[in-house]
Amino acid sequence: MIHENGKVVDIAIIGAGPGGMACAIEAKLAGIENIVVIDKAPHHNDMIHKFYKKGKRVDKDWMGIKFEFKGNVTFEECSKEEYIQQMDDKLKNAGVLDKFEYNHEIMKVNKDEDGLFEIVFGQDNVAEGIETIRAKNIILSVGRMGKPNKPKYKFPKELKDVLNFNLSKVQNGERVMIVGGGDTAGEYAYGLVELEGMEDCVVTLNYRQAEIKRMNPTNTQMCMKYLDNGKILNKMGVDIESVEPSEAGKIKVNFTDGSTAEYDRAVYALGGTTPVDILVNSGVKTGEWDVPVYDENTMETNVQGLYTIGDVVTDQGSIALAFNHACFAVSDIASKLK
Ligand SMILES: Cc1cc2nc3c(=O)[nH]c(=O)nc-3n(C[C@H](O)[C@H](O)[C@H](O)COP(=O)(O)OP(=O)(O)OC[C@H]3O[C@@H](n4cnc5c(N)ncnc54)[C@H](O)[C@@H]3O)c2cc1C
Repeated sequence: MIHENGKVVDIAIIGAGPGGMACAIEAKLAGIENIVVIDKAPHHNDMIHKFYKKGKRVDKDWMGIKFEFKGNVTFEECSKEEYIQQMDDKLKNAGVLDKFEYNHEIMKVNKDEDGLFEIVFGQDNVAEGIETIRAKNIILSVGRMGKPNKPKYKFPKELKDVLNFNLSKVQNGERVMIVGGGDTAGEYAYGLVELEGMEDCVVTLNYRQAEIKRMNPTNTQMCMKYLDNGKILNKMGVDIESVEPSEAGKIKVNFTDGSTAEYDRAVYALGGTTPVDILVNSGVKTGEWDVPVYDENTMETNVQGLYTIGDVVTDQGSIALAFNHACFAVSDIASKLK
């Protein structure tokens, strides 16, 4: 990690695909130097590295939609390999390559009382001793390809709606089992106990280990407090063998020690992130089909200073669209930083 812990940047860009890298160039051109771009992959444009076939032509008008470039970042239609080279040259020429931090997965961002965002890294980063980077503005450009880690057992299709990876679907009064032993699981569990309007939920924490070992001190303390006073029911020290629909149409959970229990909903926090999870966990409102709600002119979400661009906001994404979104978001931030 070349960035100093605790540093405050003007913009932290999460994701170094077409959207994120265009943001870095737009920021430089707008005179904003104090930025960081963080990606979980070891290089920029990872989705293109991984999912485009060797030699694939990279079209500007993708999926039959004609796009005009609105910002400073453009590309010439070419092969996959040439596109990656073009982007490398653009980043080099803009002098922003040193702004990129690779191999760091972000779980969410929290807006503190002082109006700054704290970037929450995944477990592996915590293990490496990274504390935090704080930012005045965030641009989430995390694409659509992220996947949460799923358990080994099958999810019956009748239970698809109630086996979730974040809290966005939880209804008041439900019996909810949170599965996992890391910070996200902890924050889901005590977060749900404390969530306004969810007072009647009954929250259970399930983790295969009997003790909390992987949470940070605050989350450990909060979970222990509620486990001790019974506000979080303790189902730790036992793994889940399978889940099946119960006779009442709920989730019947079969544990490895032979016990069973019934829940209205299970929320898995086993690591890995979906783009929507990062957004929801960062306080972004989502609408139909989990698409984030944002201002189409500025790309700002309901959380002031938190922007979201590229594939994560549309099911008809393209490189040109991500470039244009980058221009809209950075222009808005630049006008506010003045
Ligand atoms: C097979 C295929 C072919 C395509 N062909 C074309 C084409 O010819 N022309 C065209 O215009 N479009 C094409 N597209 C679409 C285009 O690739 C996308 O619209 C574009 O890549 C979107 O850019 P993005 O920056 O929004 O997301 P992405 O390219 O998905 O980048 C997101 C980045 O965020 C990172 N990330 C995700 N989660 C985290 C996290 N939690 N922490 C840190 N980093 C994270 C990822 O590692 C990734 O680098 C194609 C798509 C596919 C799948």
